Amino acid sequence: MLAISLLTPPYATLSYATPAWLDASAWKCGQRVIVPLGKGGMLRAGIVVSVDDDSSVKEGVVLKECLWPAEREPLLRPEYLGMVKQLALRHMVTEGEVLGGLLPAGLRTSKIRLRILDGGKPRTVSMRDLAGMSAEERSRVGALWAGNAVEILDSTFDAEEQELCTLLVDPPWSVRPSAKRQIEVLEYLHDKGMLSRTRLLQELGSGISAALNTLAERGLVRIGPREGGTCESCEDESNECSFDFGEGFTLLPEQQVAFDDFSALLHDETPKSALLYGITGSGKTVVYLELAAEALAKGLSVMLLAPEVALACKLDSAVRKRFPSQECFFYNGYQSPTEREKTFRLLAKRTTPCVIVGTRSALFLPSPRLGLIVLDEEHDTSFKQDEGLVYQAKEVAHYRVQQSNGLLLLGSATPDVKTFHAVQQQAVSMGVMKERAGEGKLPEVSLLNIKNMKRSDGILAAECKKQIRETVERGEQVVILLNRRGYAPLMYCLDCGHVARCPHCEVGLTYHKGRERLICHYCGYSVSYPVVCSKCKGLHYLPMGEGTEKLEENLIEILPPDTKILRLDRDSTRRPGKMQRILDAFANQEAQVLVGTQMLSKGHHFPNVTLAVVADGDLGLNLPDYRAAERTFQLLVQASGRAGRGEKAGRVLIQTRDPGHYCWQFVGSADYDGFYAEEIERRRKRKYPPFVKLALIRASYPLDWNKGMEWVETLTEVARALGKEHDVRVLGHTPSPLPVLRGRKRFQWTLKSDDWISIRTLYYAMRNAVPRGSKLRLSLDIDPVNM
Ligand code: ADP
Ligand code: ZN
Repeated sequence: MLAISLLTPPYATLSYATPAWLDASAWKCGQRVIVPLGKGGMLRAGIVVSVDDDSSVKEGVVLKECLWPAEREPLLRPEYLGMVKQLALRHMVTEGEVLGGLLPAGLRTSKIRLRILDGGKPRTVSMRDLAGMSAEERSRVGALWAGNAVEILDSTFDAEEQELCTLLVDPPWSVRPSAKRQIEVLEYLHDKGMLSRTRLLQELGSGISAALNTLAERGLVRIGPREGGTCESCEDESNECSFDFGEGFTLLPEQQVAFDDFSALLHDETPKSALLYGITGSGKTVVYLELAAEALAKGLSVMLLAPEVALACKLDSAVRKRFPSQECFFYNGYQSPTEREKTFRLLAKRTTPCVIVGTRSALFLPSPRLGLIVLDEEHDTSFKQDEGLVYQAKEVAHYRVQQSNGLLLLGSATPDVKTFHAVQQQAVSMGVMKERAGEGKLPEVSLLNIKNMKRSDGILAAECKKQIRETVERGEQVVILLNRRGYAPLMYCLDCGHVARCPHCEVGLTYHKGRERLICHYCGYSVSYPVVCSKCKGLHYLPMGEGTEKLEENLIEILPPDTKILRLDRDSTRRPGKMQRILDAFANQEAQVLVGTQMLSKGHHFPNVTLAVVADGDLGLNLPDYRAAERTFQLLVQASGRAGRGEKAGRVLIQTRDPGHYCWQFVGSADYDGFYAEEIERRRKRKYPPFVKLALIRASYPLDWNKGMEWVETLTEVARALGKEHDVRVLGHTPSPLPVLRGRKRFQWTLKSDDWISIRTLYYAMRNAVPRGSKLRLSLDIDPVNM
């Protein structure tokens, strides 16, 4: 009997019998297999998660038989299945859901064909053909399989690689073609990046075939194999790192101390976690690479992960420079599914040590024994995935090094408050680097109080405009940072700058337009809008962050007429390569001003930038999130690190309506220790993590389902009652920050407790209260990053 986890819905783990047409030894743990499902005999791909003898089958139960193995040798090793099991338990999902969420698409398909070499001409059969065969016929194929006369043709990816569709033009589309179908294709490619022709036809319907051909003829889309010479993820032709590992390369004194400490941990054969707390520019990368060298020399593999593709590319180029003859695998979510599948397969088979570089999803690559995992910029929220399969990369990395007695090294200039707390509790060791390795000095940071600025004054204060103009006139560059957008808006008082906050939770209240109310996303407290300002009794509230589009107009008015302004926003990052092109253009000084959101603050190197402006310093402080101050501190310190990386001194100007906030006194001097001391006390007092466990339970149902709200209310009662019993505080239900998404209404509950077990018990009970097949969906997000 085999226990098989299905890789597509319903993602269940089901028992199957081993069939008579194949020898029982053909079925192995960790192997991909094809099985029939349901009465119609649909075929599904699954992974064998255990092989048991038939004595455990209950009497009278007749099991369905497996159809065929999708490979001869198992794809996944036992440790890998162990990790899957652990993740499933932790996040309360099935093993199938975990596997379905982390295997590349090509490894989840049931569309596998067999090439049978039966005497004369070889023939190809599909799994469907096989399912339709008589028992004798199938046994015959089984005998040929045992005699190695059957080959598996399990992927079409090589063919697909020959016909990749690449978009060659930017919007607006209407000036290029006018045909609706053509525009549809362009939009889709713009959204998804490079896609194979097959996939494009699958997703948009084969009716677009003619439109696609026309676009190719007109040079708007290229169809063909990948072009060589460029990094396929960021399309950067010059992603050379600045490191020089030539002869005579030595570690700086601080780097040497940190390296010696970590190296001792690496050689100690027990699992360890450590933090490299080093200011921006202190040369953390160099320490990672020297440790990687140690691990490789011991015959252990290394993983280096960054929070975003462009940074991972930089790490990748540093690795290739440091280890020119070492095999290095690069993996990230922007790569095509076929590319990812190739890497996954190669690593599944590999037994010799190697280096893997990538973003969070690279963590799930199978690999020979891992000696070292590095998470650079460990505080970054991109290490958490909260859509689809929910996981925190740090936790998964921790589990992986536990399995292999390796070292997990977290690196940051502004560590996650939770990580730093773990260091204080002596659960994590620490290395500190406080000196910059290169020339650059830390910039001078000043606050600009804009409390009295009126809306008609625009977004930038006079002093700010003056400095921007002067910088551009000197031939230097300016970066203007707008804080995160696209969140439900917070409201602030136009007269005094005060932000409407929840009296119970201290977080900013979110404006819900349809209901004309301000709502607390933590506890559900709400007041009707408009409100009277509790501070100055003013009546004029304005949604924050609005009007940022006006910024460019403002700039054009004050800058010399030939100044070029680049903009980096959501739109430009959705397309792989686009973001890198903008960053490159700016680095090459093709423009004098770069406007962008928080993605600008991450690790990019612009030597000619001498002024960084933060237009809306407060926006982040008022987010409905207990980490608002931490996020703002991290963002602004990282952003400040962008100015003055070259030889010229840098300045940072932060506009704020709330100059008294405790965050500011530490941002100016990039004083993480000071910030941490203040922040951790606030968390202790307010009972926020790391002093409690926090989780979100999300619910959603179709907009047109009139029973939905009743169910949400019922679940609130279930949660409240059990919460009392298990000492879990249940806050909510409240509408989610995005109350309607993809045709579904969304609600959430915030759970606070001293332990995860109680939270899981509650979630389990809520899930059981919902009947099978209900239109209501529930999910659990442990330690959420987006509240
Ligand atoms: P961080 O990641 O800590 O911000 P990096 O690792 O990017 O810093 O290093 C910053 C710069 O300092 C790089 O350009 C690197 O070449 C230089 N650097 C770091 N360590 C050394 C060293 N030991 N000798 C020479 N240059 C170094
Ligand atoms: Zn509240």
